[in-house]
Amino acid sequence: MDAPADFRALPSIDHLLKSEAAAPLLDRYGRTLVTDELRATLQDIRAAMRTGGTPPDEAGIFAALLARLEHRDRSNLRPLFNLTGTVLHTNLGRALLAEEAIAAAVDAMREAAALEFDLDSGRRGERDSHLRGLLCELTGAEDATIVNNNAAAVLIALNAVGAGREAIVSRGELIEIGGAFRMPDIMERAGVRLVEVGTTNRTHPKDYRGALRPETALILKVHTSNYRIEGFTAEVPGAELADIAKEAGVALVNDLGSGTLIDLSRFGLKREPTVREAVAEGAGLVTFSGDKLLGGPQAGFIVGRRDLIAEINRNPLKRALRVDKLRIAALEATLKLYRDPDRLAARLPTFRLLSRKECDIRQQAERLAPALATLLAPLGYAVDVCACASQIGSGALPVDTIPSAGLRIAGASGGALETLAARLRALPRPILGRIGDGALILDLRCLLDEAGFLDSLSSGFAPS
Ligand SMILES: *Cc1c(COP(=O)(O)O)cnc(C)c1O
Repeated sequence: MDAPADFRALPSIDHLLKSEAAAPLLDRYGRTLVTDELRATLQDIRAAMRTGGTPPDEAGIFAALLARLEHRDRSNLRPLFNLTGTVLHTNLGRALLAEEAIAAAVDAMREAAALEFDLDSGRRGERDSHLRGLLCELTGAEDATIVNNNAAAVLIALNAVGAGREAIVSRGELIEIGGAFRMPDIMERAGVRLVEVGTTNRTHPKDYRGALRPETALILKVHTSNYRIEGFTAEVPGAELADIAKEAGVALVNDLGSGTLIDLSRFGLKREPTVREAVAEGAGLVTFSGDKLLGGPQAGFIVGRRDLIAEINRNPLKRALRVDKLRIAALEATLKLYRDPDRLAARLPTFRLLSRKECDIRQQAERLAPALATLLAPLGYAVDVCACASQIGSGALPVDTIPSAGLRIAGASGGALETLAARLRALPRPILGRIGDGALILDLRCLLDEAGFLDSLSSGFAPS
């Protein structure tokens, strides 16, 4: 055992911390973190020496230390390239915000703002007031209120309108959305008794009528946003449901999910019901998300009848589910963009990405393929341009895809693809694709920063 003598040859922590190379690290990361990581670095070196490794010089120690510090300091929330083909990817944070919204949120973060203060009267104001007018203007609703997300919107709407009473729902609409949002569970938590009517594939007006009782508080309609029932099907249109609810003196609550404010056919996409249409059909309340097709930050909107919105605003849950000033500022800026629908595709990233033409994406793929091949061929991967089918994601138009193009990276074996995918995830700016058909597919629909993509790739794969 000659190891102890070798260990003594290593410089001490004290000595290393006082050396010139340590100064910029101490400045950047602070003494506590640098000392911790230096200790860990020396431990690694000793472990390597025990198995016969030679000790590095001081420059080598600092290189290892810097790598540890950078890794430790790296955020898992750092920006990444979403090349999965799903534009509104819930696990990747859904909508990218418009520059106008980002600027508004930054201003709201940095300075005091009249969040709950009325600058005209000098009296206390309301945080929803910044959005209410815009929401009414854009949806035709009488009134509006805002909560943390659409799940919260459904929860509070049901609780405010139906606690202790019954809600009628079609068996074809008892949805589960990712992340354990199950309509029957939400209804239970909201204190509403669920009355299921109809069958999975067919529900008729007489089913709803037959379930109405004095205990009925509302009829709930849920947009089947993440699946579609096809074949022998029947559902009751919103307008007819509104009539049934009205006759019975109960409220119709329509959970639209993604809820778009404009007709998507303008972007060459299939139509989804718009919020304005749902309001015009006569729903008492309509709920929808801020960060799905709307293209803003996470939020839940409830628009509809003034008396029902007032009931929601009086509910104690409202305080628990309220939205902060950052998001209100970003939402206001996002909603304002809808006043000029012609420029939406240019200003709102969600629509810019969804409306990108297949031929443009293919050209981009052809531009990038040679560079990618140069980096990956030495590792045994082949790169081709391929056709892709992008999805909107977050439950909008679940079975429709948008033609797109991308890069298909094929390796020697399945294991090699997993290794490559892991290396792409470990880049300073990670690249996320999708493994399928024996290849790693990078759908380029959401790639706007081509130079950044190439930089990130070459930083991790440059031939040494
Ligand atoms: C997405 C969705 C929700 C949940 O909305 P979040 O904003 O994710 O909370 C609820 N209902 C439907 C129909 C949805 O599509």
